Amino acid sequence: MSVGRSSRPPLPEGPYLIVGLARSGVAAARMLRGHGEVLAADSGSPELPDDVEAQLGSDGLALLERAACVVKSPGVPNEAPAIVRARERGVPVMGELELAWRLLPNRFVAVTGTNGKTTTVELLGAIWRAARLPVAVAGNVGTPLSALVGEVEPDATIVCEVSSFQAEDSAELAPDTALLLNLTEDHLDRHGSLEAYREAKLCLFARQTPEQVAVAPPGIELPGRARRLDFGDPAGLPLDPGEIRLRGAHNLENVMGAAAAAFAAGLPPEAVAEALRSFAGVPHRLEEVGTVRGVLYVNDSKATNVSSAARGIESFDGGVHAILGGSLKGGGFEGLREPVAARCRACYLIGEAAERLAADLRDAGVPLHRCGKLEAAVEAARAAAEPGEVVLLSPACASYDQFRDYEQRGDRFRALIPPA
Ligand code: ADP
Repeated sequence: MSVGRSSRPPLPEGPYLIVGLARSGVAAARMLRGHGEVLAADSGSPELPDDVEAQLGSDGLALLERAACVVKSPGVPNEAPAIVRARERGVPVMGELELAWRLLPNRFVAVTGTNGKTTTVELLGAIWRAARLPVAVAGNVGTPLSALVGEVEPDATIVCEVSSFQAEDSAELAPDTALLLNLTEDHLDRHGSLEAYREAKLCLFARQTPEQVAVAPPGIELPGRARRLDFGDPAGLPLDPGEIRLRGAHNLENVMGAAAAAFAAGLPPEAVAEALRSFAGVPHRLEEVGTVRGVLYVNDSKATNVSSAARGIESFDGGVHAILGGSLKGGGFEGLREPVAARCRACYLIGEAAERLAADLRDAGVPLHRCGKLEAAVEAARAAAEPGEVVLLSPACASYDQFRDYEQRGDRFRALIPPA
């Protein structure tokens, strides 16, 4: 049985106040233009395209007087003054993703979880393309969902990455297929507890109907009434596991989640196999940058939490020179101790988190070098690494103490790789 598309609730009425004008806020402003007056505010001064009218350097409180609906960008916390005030006054607050979903007629596949979302949405896109079926992928890397409104043909399937913040800011969003990849500790600085984080992520499932499909790893209990499918067994795929191009046990989990979601939508196993043979992953996620004098350099800058960095390190049999650190998120690094002890030759610690990392990894039994900056860490790792070993940037931390974002950190790492 394959999954159709559900009907959608109407858009709330404007005027709309968009709070937070990063990429998704700007895309939301464009999307809403035909539907009512659009006001926008951002506390900083982001660079904006000419066709978006906005009050910059403002918390949006003054504009709230004129708004009938507030569009909250995922980076804006619940405690932001305009959000608090809107809720007090009963003005509906929702995210860009929810509004875009309401305006799109397409079959909607949502991918959520702590890690692997971007990799998996891109993989699903590759599977749909291998089946020669129309598909559009929306997510944090490429296109925000609202940029697809009016742009994609109605019979295309939309595969969309949904972060915990976006899920939390949704009101009625119920995906035709919802895929949960995993759930581990992340963003406790903003969600407060693992329980709150879990609830935010799982609200996508809670609203699903029996005609819809929920895919999750075996053993994870889900709310809602959707038809439940577990991840399958790699043995059930019509290819040898060695032919799968993505590296690491964690990616095999992503593969099995994607395969289950694709099968639920009625796609043939051959399309899944074809995509798995060719899909090599996404930049900054275990991206093999190059081999210099026998040493493999791997950019996993997107490993911004402990579980993803642990999986990054575990993707190699040993001989790993791991560069760890960045800004602190509120949790500890004990979860790295085992993979570091088992697979690493040494760790190179950078940024704000270096002292906490040093304390939490003290018992791992490998040398810990405090390097301060990424440049010094790459240089020290390069000097120590021997042919057959790996220099891995899999930092387990966000990048905001030293970089604009993980992409800038990964680009910098790439540029630091010594010439062959
Ligand atoms: P997300 O979009 O959820 O942040 P990405 O695909 O961008 O996920 O990957 C983020 C990081 O998590 C990368 O370092 C990647 O190697 C790692 N990762 C990917 N899939 C998993 C998984 N299933 N479990 C743990 N870590 C993963």
